[in-house]
Amino acid sequence: MKEIVPSPPPVVRNDMAAVQALFQQHVVPSYGRFEIVFTHGAGSYLYDIAAKRYLDFGGGIAVSSLGHAHPAITEALVEQSRKLIHVSNYYYHEPQGRLAEALAHLIGPGKCFFCNSGGEANEGLFKLARKFGHDEGRFEILTTFNSFHGRTLAGIAATGQDKVKKGFEPMVPGFRQVPYNDLEAMRAAISPGTAAILVEGVQGEGGVTAATPEYLLGLRQLCNDKKLLLLMDAVQDGHFRTGCFQSFQRILEGMPQASSFLPDGISMAKSLGGGFPIGAFWVRAPYADLLSAGTHGTTYGGSPLGCAVALEVLDVIQREKLANNARQVGDYLKAGSRELARKYPGIIRDVRGLGLMLGIELKPGIPNLPGGANKTQAARFASLLHAAGLLTIPAGAQILRFLPPLNLRQSEAEEGLKIIESVLVKLSA
Ligand SMILES: *Cc1c(COP(=O)(O)O)cnc(C)c1O
Repeated sequence: MKEIVPSPPPVVRNDMAAVQALFQQHVVPSYGRFEIVFTHGAGSYLYDIAAKRYLDFGGGIAVSSLGHAHPAITEALVEQSRKLIHVSNYYYHEPQGRLAEALAHLIGPGKCFFCNSGGEANEGLFKLARKFGHDEGRFEILTTFNSFHGRTLAGIAATGQDKVKKGFEPMVPGFRQVPYNDLEAMRAAISPGTAAILVEGVQGEGGVTAATPEYLLGLRQLCNDKKLLLLMDAVQDGHFRTGCFQSFQRILEGMPQASSFLPDGISMAKSLGGGFPIGAFWVRAPYADLLSAGTHGTTYGGSPLGCAVALEVLDVIQREKLANNARQVGDYLKAGSRELARKYPGIIRDVRGLGLMLGIELKPGIPNLPGGANKTQAARFASLLHAAGLLTIPAGAQILRFLPPLNLRQSEAEEGLKIIESVLVKLSA
């Protein structure tokens, strides 16, 4: 792994209040933010405006796949921006073609469409499903409870969590949810109007729940039998996070059917650009030409700059064998978290996940947990970890997620576990 030289410490001026005041006056208050103002990062560490250092197990929600300020990303940005940043999709350019080739090589025979975010990638899959079922009048997409598919109008209709829908009714029609990992519920939900099934391989926002191999294989068979598209939202669990490029590749490892399993469409974003906004979806070969000229588009999508960065991120991951690293350091972090769960059974209920996509589920009603009664336990626990110098991402009310850079070192994983234990010690005192 390339040595990452930390930047010099920033000029320490505690103007946190001034930055927060700007937000209060000028930024739409749609986020519940933690009380931290960041100024810069290096590798797996972030620095706040008072020069406090944090170990970053959140990775900007599974985005900063190579950590912060990675020289290869900086170089790709600088080099490509000297040549060409943007031309629109009226024209051809090499980076988009090469990135599509690379992604299809990692998944299977098919084609890619590029956009700028996970929500947009899913919109593309929804349109693909509607085009697929259109001539037979089929347009319904079945999804699962506790899923998350983005904040667009169709994304919240697809998402299996009431909290994202509340206040935005009526929902876009054509989405229905059933329990996750329940093949019979999915089978029973299929109607004459159903065109597709969309699931995450590992539910992220829903609390780090992995699909079973039987579920994925069963869904494939079901979609074959009923002539439905099997779509997978790999926005969070994709891009080597679980130790394989796609989570289904990791989940199905060792199964005889593993090599022949493919979904019909896959949405990607988050880690794809290592922090530069880029999204994509891949469509399996038989359906790759459904979205013909003029049926779908975006101005920014697949820009030379975005694609050059994504190609460089892929190159670094492969050169530095970061899939293996995600698997090994992930296993280490999971084992260490399991050990903490064993030592502190009154606080940690469960540890789950694959590779560097891990979740710690807290027990409800932890005594001594400071913080407002209107905040979730997960947010309150995350604040304690912040104070101790570790960033994690809450999921739901009880779960903390680790989505660190794929080049996280074992020593950094060990440091994170020590920080978590220091908080557990205090809470159980
Ligand atoms: C984050 C996420 C999205 C939405 O991606 P955005 O880039 O925020 O639009 C969709 N699906 C899953 C599984 C996600 O984790």
